[in-house]
Amino acid sequence: MTGKEILFALINFAVLVAGIWLFGRKKIAEILRSHRDRVETDLQDAARSHEDAQRLDEDLAQIRRAAAEREEALLAESRSKAETNSAAALARRTAEAEAVMAVVQDGEEQLRRDMQHRFADEAVAAVAEETAALLREERYAPARAALQDRCLAEIAGLLAATPNDLLRMEQQGKLEMTVTGAAPLTDEELRALESAARERIVSPAGLGDLPVICLDEPDEAVIGGIRLRLGDTVYDGTLSHRLEQLQIRGENGTGTVADVISAIRRRLRPESSAVDVYQVGRVIRLSDGICRVSGLSDVMAGEMLTLPGGLRGMVMDLERDNVGVVLLGDYTAVQEGDAVRRTRRIIDVPVGEALIGRVVDALGRPLDGKGAIHAKERRAVESPAPGVPDRQSVNRPLQTGLKAIDALVPIGRGQRELIIGDRQTGKTAIALDTIINQKDQDVLCIYVAIGQKESTVASVVQQLRQHGAMEYTTVVCASASEPAPMLYIAPYAGAAIGEHFMYQGRDVLIVYDDLSKQAAAYREISLLLQRPPGREAYPGDVFYLHSRLLERAARLSDRCGGGSMTALPIIETQAGDISAYIPTNVISITDGQIFLETGLFHAGVRPAINVGLSVSRVGGAAQIGAMKQVAGRLRMDLAQYRELASFAQFGSDLDKATQAALRRGERMTELLKQEQYAPMAAADQVIVLFAAGEGYADDVPVDRMARFESELLAYVHENLPGIFDTIAGGKKIPEEGLAQLRRTIENFQKTF
Ligand code: ATP
Ligand code: MG
Repeated sequence: MTGKEILFALINFAVLVAGIWLFGRKKIAEILRSHRDRVETDLQDAARSHEDAQRLDEDLAQIRRAAAEREEALLAESRSKAETNSAAALARRTAEAEAVMAVVQDGEEQLRRDMQHRFADEAVAAVAEETAALLREERYAPARAALQDRCLAEIAGLLAATPNDLLRMEQQGKLEMTVTGAAPLTDEELRALESAARERIVSPAGLGDLPVICLDEPDEAVIGGIRLRLGDTVYDGTLSHRLEQLQIRGENGTGTVADVISAIRRRLRPESSAVDVYQVGRVIRLSDGICRVSGLSDVMAGEMLTLPGGLRGMVMDLERDNVGVVLLGDYTAVQEGDAVRRTRRIIDVPVGEALIGRVVDALGRPLDGKGAIHAKERRAVESPAPGVPDRQSVNRPLQTGLKAIDALVPIGRGQRELIIGDRQTGKTAIALDTIINQKDQDVLCIYVAIGQKESTVASVVQQLRQHGAMEYTTVVCASASEPAPMLYIAPYAGAAIGEHFMYQGRDVLIVYDDLSKQAAAYREISLLLQRPPGREAYPGDVFYLHSRLLERAARLSDRCGGGSMTALPIIETQAGDISAYIPTNVISITDGQIFLETGLFHAGVRPAINVGLSVSRVGGAAQIGAMKQVAGRLRMDLAQYRELASFAQFGSDLDKATQAALRRGERMTELLKQEQYAPMAAADQVIVLFAAGEGYADDVPVDRMARFESELLAYVHENLPGIFDTIAGGKKIPEEGLAQLRRTIENFQKTF
């Protein structure tokens, strides 16, 4: 390249650079300027939007405030509207208030009644103390003397001897009495008593010149009057005794102030007897809730005795020189030497309407915290069963609501049906379902819980209450923690409560849950009383224990009011052994048994009734006509199924008929399963059993049987409602009814 060319190139380059610079500077400046402007506007925009945002915030707050105000206004408006305008709401509120008031009033009433008792007790105690203090004063000395004379005269006229006294008299060769007054008696007075005794006791017994001795044991504590003791009998005319009597409140605490006043008035009446004759014995031995009492020579078997502290006892054993007494309650405070007083009453419980809906113990004392039971009547726990002429045969059904029972082992009113099975096989469940199914059936129910945990009983009561069954049910509870005698008498107490209703012409259902525990309690008592043990260590009379209880269930003849008592005793077996002592006894006493099996229960067949071993010997007569129509076929199908099922286990080729029988049996078994607390009306049971028995369910898969059942019932209820009344009427379904039913079921089958 030449130098000229290089110069040219340099000049060109310089011109290009100058041009670019000239243009570029302008352009760059322009770009920068525009950029700056943009930033500036952006900044302005940002500031503006910031302002906007602030304003928006304010607006929003304002809107919120307004909305809140509006809301409040609306609420207030609607509230006032509801209060003033809506009559329905007003009425509802009034009803609620009334209900609350009723509850409050109920409570108040209860409280007042209870207060009255308490007041009566306290008032009596106070009156007694005041009176005692007053009577000891000197100025009453003449009155005391007069009382003493009157007592002496009265006692002299009352003296009598029990057979035991006569026996003792002969053995001892003398008649001895002890007399107690506030001050020593005069010789003259003692002689008068002795001659009275000779005249009234010794001479009539033909013991002519037997010596009669009257010992004087004065005691200031008696205040006034005379007490004479002859053998076990006490002739008590002392003031201290009278005051004590006033303090002892009525057996069941039903005294009121009015009662107290009238009692005092009665006591003060001049013609009233000053002397109270009673018998006392002394505790001589005490062990494990059983005591031996000396004296009480002519006490009755089963009589109630009172011990110090309000403890009750029951006479179980009569021996030559003492009686065996079981103590009904906490016996820790009893001591040897304590006085035991006769009541001359066989042990009894309150009965009547006041018991309905209550939970009581074996002596009829409330356990549910709902206050005292104000029963007008009492009934001895043990009483003879109605005789043959007073009965009639069972002829009305007692629906349990369980398909398997109502169809296969029907129970009639007045029947005794045993529920027997191992532990946890659903025995209690069957009894409870039956009680729940008695709603609106005009049957009063009694559930006797024997030797169960208190928590179990509480949950039973809870279930009954939840299903509205406590309205017609009484629960008698002798829980596992109570002494054996309470468990022993609980079923009899329940029976007494039921019997009262039965003799009024009402229908009663009684459940004894369970009698195995009662038998065990009785065995315990017997062994403690040193009675000889027999088979399985039970005493020899254990059969009588249950027979005299279950015989009290009956259907009375119309002449006797036509009432009934249906008994459902429960027995627990060990490993399904129904040939043990107690099970065989009770099976032979009852009119049939429902046998529950552990195997079935675990296989999901619930209720786990063994259809082969369960029977009802009299209930069939009471079954409703329509049920009889379907039950015969059902029983046959199931029997056939049981027989074939064992063969079928060997599998292989079965002929058509066998296969059909197996199909039918499987479906029938499935159909008899039933949930707890879901009792079914008799008419519904008939419909489903009819459908299955006629083979309409043969093609339904086994696991869809439950659905088939519920949908079929819904369908028939909708399309053939008349049939239910026909069935409930108790007669057989006539031919045209059956035809209609078949058509309806066929139509249903098409839709299923
Ligand atoms: P126990 O020997 O303890 O007295 P039991 O034989 O009285 O027992 P239940 O207490 O009635 O038996 O039932 C045992 C269990 O089986 C309970 O949990 C109960 O809810 C359940 N059960 C009973 N029957 C049915 C049923 N039909 N369907 C479903 N569960 C059931
Ligand atoms: Mg049970």
